[in-house]
Amino acid sequence: MLVASKNGVRVDARNAIRGEEHRCPACNAEVVLKRGRRVIAHFAHKPPVDCSWGKGETYAHRHSKALVADALKERGLNAEVEFVVETLMGDRRADVMTWHPDTGQAIAIELQHSTIDLDNLEARARAYASAGIAQFWIGFLTKNAKNKALPDGKNRWKIEQYSSQPFENWISGFNMGKGFWMYDPFEGCFWNCEFSDHHTWVVETTRCDEYGEEHYHGGYWRKSKRWKELTMSGPYDITNLKVKLFTRSKAFGTSRYWWPAGRGATFS
Ligand SMILES: [Zn+2]
Repeated sequence: MLVASKNGVRVDARNAIRGEEHRCPACNAEVVLKRGRRVIAHFAHKPPVDCSWGKGETYAHRHSKALVADALKERGLNAEVEFVVETLMGDRRADVMTWHPDTGQAIAIELQHSTIDLDNLEARARAYASAGIAQFWIGFLTKNAKNKALPDGKNRWKIEQYSSQPFENWISGFNMGKGFWMYDPFEGCFWNCEFSDHHTWVVETTRCDEYGEEHYHGGYWRKSKRWKELTMSGPYDITNLKVKLFTRSKAFGTSRYWWPAGRGATFS
């Protein structure tokens, strides 16, 4: 984690003073400052780690949070990493919180570095919406996906057979089909992404029945349940991206997914 607490006050690992006592804001255990040339300054729990705030954090996740918050601050905006929102369930921290400079509208930026199940995701989305906080969900590109991407001849990259995670489908749906953003942890940049249906060719087959009659099957394209096509435009450097708000006027659900009404945010 990038932020710990010192006597109840938020301390950014970058500004923390070595030797002082820092505690985890969730479990109150003492945490250790890790800062050096090759690490993103952060705090670590001492093993054994029982606290969920001390588990599963990657360099890529830390880096993405710092990158986004720094870019916003660079522009004179107010931005905080790991900002606590009391009404969130589970991990109560928004990865990055920023505020619209004119209206003060709070915008939570969630850098979703690991899979999250739909129940948790939808509970989080609901909590943000009822708190009046705009939400901006960003996925993470995997090494495997990146290796499969090929140029499509129109300055975009395409993965013809992408096995999308349910939370990625949710993010795409939250943005109302207008594309969504993915963070590329290998280059430290962002891609504007879009899902479309993948079609597989069903090969024509002939079968002869017991009366010697031939039966034909296949010879057509079928929408794949397993794959989607992922088209990626970019890459974009964070310094060239602006946060833009949009409104979902109604909650919407399908048999599998549910999205709240409320404000969302994306890059433009
Ligand atoms: Zn803790």
